[in-house]
Amino acid sequence: MSNASAVPSDRSAVTVLGLGSMGAALATAFVRDDRRTTVWNRTPEKADRLVADGAVRAMTVADAVVASPLVVVCVLDHAAVLDILDALGDAATGRAVVNLTSGTPDQARAAAGWATARGVEYLDGGIMADPENIGTAEAMFVYSGSQGAFDVHEATLRLLGESVTYLGTDPGAASLHFMAIVGLCYETWISYLDTLALVGTDGVEASTFAPFATGMFTAMTGLMTAMARAVDDGHYPPDSGTLVVHQALMDDLIDTWESRNVDATRLRHVKALVDRRVAEGHGANGFSSLIEIIRTGPTASTSARTP
Ligand code: NAP
Repeated sequence: MSNASAVPSDRSAVTVLGLGSMGAALATAFVRDDRRTTVWNRTPEKADRLVADGAVRAMTVADAVVASPLVVVCVLDHAAVLDILDALGDAATGRAVVNLTSGTPDQARAAAGWATARGVEYLDGGIMADPENIGTAEAMFVYSGSQGAFDVHEATLRLLGESVTYLGTDPGAASLHFMAIVGLCYETWISYLDTLALVGTDGVEASTFAPFATGMFTAMTGLMTAMARAVDDGHYPPDSGTLVVHQALMDDLIDTWESRNVDATRLRHVKALVDRRVAEGHGANGFSSLIEIIRTGPTASTSARTP
């Protein structure tokens, strides 16, 4: 027997499932806008502050879901999402579910399949922000999946962050963009920490060096745009020099790191890629041309590490 419920007449009502650091920040943004905000969390006490601020506590996940036409899910991972969906039955039928839980593109598509089978509009989203930035211009969100759900609820979703991009109907697209940015962040952060370790070997404090790094990142935005254009065009003009110029400094670069006992594994990988492109006759190309090797996959790319 179906337990589907009529969609509430208050079209601005919102439900938030999951009140960890991020879910609580999302719910707070809705409460601040005086939306009727129904909240549910596996550990109910985490709703106390929000309820004191005006949110409505639901005792079960199904009660929470039937309360609003828009349901935002933000829990730890996809396994937690599945636990919630399993408990729902048909309670979400006729509603829009926006899943802001991090997961893979395939997990997003699986959740969309679950939704379609139950008459639920599914939108997947990626949050590129910290909880304290939710509701500000700094919070960047990407969405993909149901165009209808995005169109109907875009104004509500903009309460969470002013930068909102809809990436199309493939529910996996938002996750792909999110994972791409998260990966870029981790690679940048670990490289930055190695760099701080390097300058620290000669007694340079991290805070003293930081302005040089932040200045470089500011200057980098134009170059990153140009490199993207080169990758799309398949023409690779010199970027900060030709590959031959890059190649000429790499042994000294690696020596500087390794002589100070700082891990140069990633730099050795870069050098192997540069060496291979130059050996293949592309020394006049820019750094962006390494994409030609990278695109062949990790095996070919990794084999370039062997000098
Ligand atoms: P968190 O503070 O650790 O909260 C995790 C939430 O998931 C809690 O509400 C927890 O409930 C719930 N949960 C875990 N397992 C569950 C299950 N099996 N069934 C039901 N609920 C379950 O994590 P968070 O920082 O809010 O992150 C939530 C999501 O946002 C993650 O996917 C994360 O990658 C993403 N995100 C976070 C940030 C950030 O800066 N925090 C930034 C971007 C994206 P209990 O309270 O009962 O444990």
